[in-house]
Amino acid sequence: MRDLSAHPELLSINSATVRERWNLPQLIEGCARHGIRAISPWRDKVAECGLATAAKLIRTHGLQLSGYCRGGLFPAADAAGRARAIEENRRAVDEAATLGAPCLILVAGGLPEGSKDIADARAQVHDGMAALLEHARKANVMLAIEPLHPMYAADRACVNTLAQANALCRALGPGIGVAVDVYHLWWDPELEASIAEAGRLGLILAFHVCDWLVPTTDLLLDRGMMGDGVIDIRKIRGWVEAAGYGGLVEAEIFSARNWWQRDPDEVLRICRERYISVC
Ligand code: ZN
Repeated sequence: MRDLSAHPELLSINSATVRERWNLPQLIEGCARHGIRAISPWRDKVAECGLATAAKLIRTHGLQLSGYCRGGLFPAADAAGRARAIEENRRAVDEAATLGAPCLILVAGGLPEGSKDIADARAQVHDGMAALLEHARKANVMLAIEPLHPMYAADRACVNTLAQANALCRALGPGIGVAVDVYHLWWDPELEASIAEAGRLGLILAFHVCDWLVPTTDLLLDRGMMGDGVIDIRKIRGWVEAAGYGGLVEAEIFSARNWWQRDPDEVLRICRERYISVC
């Protein structure tokens, strides 16, 4: 297992971690101040500063990207809605390519309005990814399907376990892999086996960290700083690395009432400390 204290360059900051107080240029300058060498930007932050400017800033600072957030949201109530989703995803792939991101993170999407058919939503996710794949392969951008905790199955993502994501990748072939996020997957009794399977198939494209707070007061916006919750992050990182993952460790913390309120310089400093002491 890698010694992260010897590899500060492997820490990546997801722009959502400081999104309330910093725009993308501020994040990039902040990372430079804190010796952080990688980021994962969201599309809204890139749009805000302009794609060309974002790409230039990333290049000038020599930053690595751990991914680009995000695409997906495939299921829709009708064919026109599904086609719009594919179009939007193609644009996201093109942006990822311009930025030099190795992968586009995909959040599957949930049930279309009025639907109770989760099997159909899952079939739509498969078909949407299949429709996007050729474009992504040509652009040299990997698609990283990120399974989300089952509490999001209705409204956000009907791909909920790593085993399910692995199966999608097996069905769709080269060009697709998985993002392993400890927040979404820590509870799964099959996690170690699923990570090993993803590793055997060469599917692990990204590794995201934060923590599960007890109690959690908001389903979306109450993620914890690494070390403040109940996830054994280091154990999961050990599984991911034993499965062959050698990439970045991305801190992605949605925290409306705590971390988003704080001075982003403090957030980055603590992320860096916890990356070494906890992850
Ligand atoms: Zn994530």
